[in-house]
Amino acid sequence: MTDAKSCPCGSGRTLDDCCGLHHQGLPAPTPEALMRSRYSAFALGLVDYLLKSWAAETRPASLPDDDPTQWMRLEILDHGESGDEGTVHFRATFREGRRWGALEERSRFRREQGRWVYVDGEPSVTRLKPGRNEPCPCGSGKKGKACCVRG
Ligand SMILES: [Zn+2]
Ligand SMILES: [Zn+2]
Repeated sequence: MTDAKSCPCGSGRTLDDCCGLHHQGLPAPTPEALMRSRYSAFALGLVDYLLKSWAAETRPASLPDDDPTQWMRLEILDHGESGDEGTVHFRATFREGRRWGALEERSRFRREQGRWVYVDGEPSVTRLKPGRNEPCPCGSGKKGKACCVRG
């Protein structure tokens, strides 16, 4: 588990010095930075930021603000940009109670008036069955039973 001050995106920086900057209005410089800030916004339940950083044509009308999903880990597998278009391939590990899963997506981003926005992507979700003696899926490096996988 990360402590309250470290950024949920796993950069190793504090929230205030990482995704928090974008949540407070600083434009994300790259699609990857926007992706990280959106992941952190999902983790923190910052619904307004998620909607604001979503392309108008694919943006949902609203998002639930009581989503039970806990976002545990973000891995950026690949990313690139060309002109005003970008892609980020990522894997996000989550849990809902004792059920774990991983969402993998190749997301498309577009730059509009100097700000990157999320356009769309095709997510695929796989269920995880973390073992108590295996490395914890949260990425802490500890065994599951000494970390998030108990009982
Ligand atoms: Zn961050
Ligand atoms: Zn853990």
